[in-house]
Amino acid sequence: MRFDVITLFPEEFLAALRFGVIGRALERGILQVVCTNPRDFASGNYRRVDERVYGGGPGMVMMLEPLKAALAHVRSLDATPASVILLSPQGPKFVQARAAAMATSARVILLCGRYEGIDQRFIERYVDQELSIGDFVLSGGEYGALILVDAITRLLPGVLGAQESAMQDSFSDGLLDCPHYTRPEIAEEGAVPDVLKGGNHALIARWRRKQSLGATWLKRPELLQGQMLAPLELSRADQALLQEFQQEWQRAESALVQADSEPPADQPSS
Ligand code: SAM
Repeated sequence: MRFDVITLFPEEFLAALRFGVIGRALERGILQVVCTNPRDFASGNYRRVDERVYGGGPGMVMMLEPLKAALAHVRSLDATPASVILLSPQGPKFVQARAAAMATSARVILLCGRYEGIDQRFIERYVDQELSIGDFVLSGGEYGALILVDAITRLLPGVLGAQESAMQDSFSDGLLDCPHYTRPEIAEEGAVPDVLKGGNHALIARWRRKQSLGATWLKRPELLQGQMLAPLELSRADQALLQEFQQEWQRAESALVQADSEPPADQPSS
């Protein structure tokens, strides 16, 4: 997959991709990232890419012309059709289902805003979609674009090995991931659950599914109500597993409350 990134900070952007899973995908040619700097298309000695905002007020705005020329250049580099995505706090939130949908594209153009943002006329004419990475304001779209590139790339065939499969990650089927444990088997902080050591794959899968359902119910209940892009429908088996988790959790909570309210053994109750 190819990402074309329009950014005022191309070196910094590429440097942030050169390690780990994404670095390997770049080395193996599964991922291609080409940065284009609008400053290279700005006119005048100062190569200005920003100007003061019409109507007055603080801040600068990215100018239409350098962006337009940068986009025309990007289109001329490769004939593969590509949507233009503007990173923006005003877009719909980027979620896993969208990452999965975008991972089927051959090419995407990411536009990183800076300053107060981009001249609205560019957005209206050339941007296909705005995407936000959350309800907060960053100083530049590069952070969001890096997040998109990472989340999408790890879904591309061949990027993750079998050991790192994205299939069981949070959100891939609408639920959160189950807890994971590694050595040592027993520690001061507790023991690894017995079921994970027994080698019974059916029981392990059942335990993991139950923990996923339970973690989602405890930490992100809105996901169970189908607030992701794809509506979540729990099978009867899932509903039974979740009920089992909830009953166990409620029993454990009541035991904790009771233990808290009982006086220590060496202190007589008044
Ligand atoms: N004035 C803009 C507003 O309030 O909507 C914010 C501009 S922000 C300082 C500069 C750039 O950072 C934006 O053009 C956008 O590219 C990027 N950005 C900021 N917050 C973002 C977010 N939550 N998601 C994606 N991109 C964001």
